[in-house]
Order: sequence, then structure tokens, then C-alpha cells
Amino acid sequence: MSERAAPFHCPYCGDEDLRPSEEGHGAWECAACNRAFRLKFLGLLARGLDRSDTGGDPE
Ligand SMILES: [Zn+2]
Repeated sequence: MSERAAPFHCPYCGDEDLRPSEEGHGAWECAACNRAFRLKFLGLLARGLDRSDTGGDPE
């Protein structure tokens, strides 16, 4: 399984103009809103897929 995960949209502004950040592995920069963020794989959910659209919080 690959650790790479490419976001399709910026989680902050929703733009698609993302590029890998020099900050390191899993870090991305959004050219639209100038934010940098990091994706981290936390693990698999034991309960399986649950299509909830709560959106989650940014932290
Ligand atoms: Zn953005």
C-alpha cells in the first residue's frame, strides 16, 4: 500500500491548484489561498466505510 495520498481539492478553499510542498512528505501547498497543509494517514477504520458528510474539522 502506498503512503502517498494526493488531495484533489484544498480543504480550506476547495481549489484544485495544489502542489507538493517542500515542507516534506505529505505536505501540500494551495496556490489559490496560499495555505500549506499536511495529509496524514491515520489508519483504517474498524467499522468500515461510513459515508457521513460532516466534513471534519481542520485540525
Ligand atoms: Zn486553498
